[in-house]
Amino acid sequence: MTTQALQDSALFQTGYLVDGVWKTLDTTFDVLNPATGAAIAQVAKAGKKETEEAIAAASRAFPAWRARTAKERSAILYRWYELIIENKQWLGQLMTTEQGKPLKEAEGEVEYAASFIQWFAEEAKRANGEIIPPVKPGSRILATREPIGVVAAITPWNFPMAMLTRKLGPALAAGCTGVIKPANNTPLSAFALLTLAKKAGVPDGVLNAVAGNTAEISDAIMSSPELRKISFTGSTAVGKTLMRNAAETMKKVSMELGGNAPYIVFEDADIDAAVKGAIANKFRNAGQVCVSVNRFYIQESVYDEFVSKLAAAVNDLKVGDGLEEGTVVGPLIEASAVKKVREHVEDAVAKGATVLAGGKAHSLGGNFWQPTVLGDCHEGMALASEETFGPVAACFRFTSEEEVIQRANNTPYGLAAYFYTQNLQRVFRVSQAIESGMIGINECAVSTELGPFGGVKESGLGREGSVLGLEEFLEVKTLHIGGL
Ligand code: NAD
Repeated sequence: MTTQALQDSALFQTGYLVDGVWKTLDTTFDVLNPATGAAIAQVAKAGKKETEEAIAAASRAFPAWRARTAKERSAILYRWYELIIENKQWLGQLMTTEQGKPLKEAEGEVEYAASFIQWFAEEAKRANGEIIPPVKPGSRILATREPIGVVAAITPWNFPMAMLTRKLGPALAAGCTGVIKPANNTPLSAFALLTLAKKAGVPDGVLNAVAGNTAEISDAIMSSPELRKISFTGSTAVGKTLMRNAAETMKKVSMELGGNAPYIVFEDADIDAAVKGAIANKFRNAGQVCVSVNRFYIQESVYDEFVSKLAAAVNDLKVGDGLEEGTVVGPLIEASAVKKVREHVEDAVAKGATVLAGGKAHSLGGNFWQPTVLGDCHEGMALASEETFGPVAACFRFTSEEEVIQRANNTPYGLAAYFYTQNLQRVFRVSQAIESGMIGINECAVSTELGPFGGVKESGLGREGSVLGLEEFLEVKTLHIGGL
């Protein structure tokens, strides 16, 4: 599909959305294709005024939306799920064009994004309350669950559809309305989903969207007393700022933030499975994943075998434009991301790392970086403590279980961790000792709508997906009834 064909579709929206209407502005910003650098859209650059309009629309829409029965909201969500799946190919093409990930991965994300809408269509009907034994005769105590109100969903560019539906599925299921603020690199994916939401029957004003002037949008959202909750996915630095600002109006916050995932390969591991998992985890979305491994710890006795097999597999990964058949690793999102990867690799090499695969900018130029494996890494290198967010597998040696647990936990982050072992006692011992919201054990994928997703320490607060996801958008109201 050509960019022109994408642009000709009714799903291709470039305005800001208020009360079901896409509005234009004279001031716009460009959305670029990271593989080519070409501008694919000029999007309305919304600011304070437009965000206030969006919040006002969401406030007006709230009473009627919350008054719908859970079953009605569920039916609309289910229709939205079906429409996303029906448009999977088109949405995948759009995502690859604005985000860069290979088409197969983009289509996988569309399905994954849709799975949250499907799941919360089901969960909508289960926002149950409780009947509590009374303290006095002739009385009852009921704890009911109500939608929290108007919410804001602020999302990053790396999973432009899934990060949004993880929030909008439970928000709509609970009866909330809101304002969406997607990343400026990838607003088109978010906007396309919203056009389908309208088609599915989500009433005008329930979902509104702005992108553009991030500082102004943020100020309008954070200062609004009507807006009761922020659901944020992005970097820890921005999450901290938002949390501080939320204190002013005591907004509820959910924070899905950065990580520094360790991946431990014990000497009793199935090494081939560990290599396969490493490739799937580390090079998906060119390493731009919050649960991507940042540090591979390999036990001394299996270190050489693991790194040589990993380097051989990495050398076979095909790099290219995500729209080209066979591409496994696409471009990074923008030049600043390439700069960070370069700095981390150069710093590591200067401090003693050995380049086992890649190590340089790719010959395709632009935002492309060679899939890289670095050996002999140590904690004095920047890549050990900061998210590299690129296709770089940094390998560290370790000797004992006790030592590696201490090193794995030696980070302010705690989003995801992984380890490979065939020893059942070790499975439980190490799982308990590692400080992380999610742990993959002989498993490199930890994201599904069925399981709670979220971090500990500076990786965040709250959980998305699963039965817990709905709770984040509900408030408990307790009724004490006397005179019965
Ligand atoms: P980012 O924090 O720069 O931006 C995220 C979103 O916040 C974007 O929409 C951005 O425009 C907006 N934003 C930036 N500054 C803001 C401010 N002051 N007020 C309000 N909004 C603001 O992050 P990014 O570069 O887009 O995404 C990468 C980061 O996201 C990584 O750290 C990654 O680990 C993290 N992430 C976490 C998860 C998770 O579920 N834990 C998932 C994906 C990405």
